[in-house]
Amino acid sequence: MSLQAERLLTLFGRLGLIHLPQCYETFADEAAQKNLTYLDFLQQLLEAEEQAKYDRNVRLKIQVAHFPHSKRLDQFDFSFQPSIDEKRIRELASLRFIQHKENVILLGPPGVGKTHLAVALGMEAIRASFSVYFITMQDLLGRLTRARDENNLKQRVALLTKPKLLILDEIGYLALDQFGATCLFQLVSERYERGSMILTSNRSYGDWGSIFQDNVVASAILDRLLHHSTTINIKGESYRLKDKRKAGVLAQTTAPPVN
Ligand code: ADP
Ligand code: MG
Repeated sequence: MSLQAERLLTLFGRLGLIHLPQCYETFADEAAQKNLTYLDFLQQLLEAEEQAKYDRNVRLKIQVAHFPHSKRLDQFDFSFQPSIDEKRIRELASLRFIQHKENVILLGPPGVGKTHLAVALGMEAIRASFSVYFITMQDLLGRLTRARDENNLKQRVALLTKPKLLILDEIGYLALDQFGATCLFQLVSERYERGSMILTSNRSYGDWGSIFQDNVVASAILDRLLHHSTTINIKGESYRLKDKRKAGVLAQTTAPPVN
């Protein structure tokens, strides 16, 4: 390695330039071949470095978010689910709701794409450099129960207020005891007007009292959640069963509507 190359690598390292060590020689050769101006060459180098930093940041944020999969909006077939107004989802994908610290609640029976849409909006948020954390209600409860046993419940709840977008998936599959309901109330109160949440549930709001086994807590939670929020009510049939229906394995029925 030439002395100059060594010096350049040292400088890249000191300046925290992560991508240039791999690409500066190729860019320099190309610039010479194409007779690029010094400024064009400099711009190319800096843009490549910026892109690499952005990509690395997105990868890190996706890891931290703990998505169950990496579904995107362009993989969602809106024609299969006519009860969803595509324009409303596109509006949500503009992420104004995160800037305004509003919530999104996706309601509907199993398999209609609630988790898919929640993750896809989470991915959009990460692409726009917001921090995101995904957790199911069941995992949340497990984690908060452990935290209570280890005497650090408050710190755990505080951690969940940090991400700009918190996705809480599958509210309503399990009934919550008083501890669960109180935890959710605390979390929703802590994030109220401070940070956005996307929630998904297979139960209509009218049923939330029975999830929490307490109408007073349910309405206190809903009151804060819904104050600044968008509800997407999905009324179609399960996408998971689509192919089975086509193959005639299941009878053609419509999933019960959610109000
Ligand atoms: P839910 O959370 O409502 O139970 P999911 O989002 O988990 O449903 O969807 C079930 C599966 O079907 C996932 O693999 C999801 O990607 C896929 N899916 C659901 N709806 C659609 C759709 N309209 N277009 C494409 N894939 C879909
Ligand atoms: Mg789901």
